[in-house]
Amino acid sequence: MPQKKTPQRSCVACRQTADKRALLRFVRGADGQVHLDPTGRAAGRGAYLCADAACMAKASKSHLLDRALRVRLTEQDYQKLGSEHASLVSQQDSSVV
Ligand SMILES: [Zn+2]
Repeated sequence: MPQKKTPQRSCVACRQTADKRALLRFVRGADGQVHLDPTGRAAGRGAYLCADAACMAKASKSHLLDRALRVRLTEQDYQKLGSEHASLVSQQDSSVV
């Protein structure tokens, strides 16, 4: 079977490079709102994070998504994104088994 090359992306928190599909994508939409993009296909500027609560916490603490997406996010935004991230991570965990 021919191996398909998957794009590599790096996590904004730990800088580790991984397969695009192994990372969770955050996107800044046309409305300027940042949200999690479970499909990885939404239009807009994107930033990637590992499916790891530690990376989400680090991004939130240091406002790493602000820089990556060139927006200004509030603590509330990070709380919302953090819970979206956590729920996706738990979904992934259960589907792996
Ligand atoms: Zn990471």
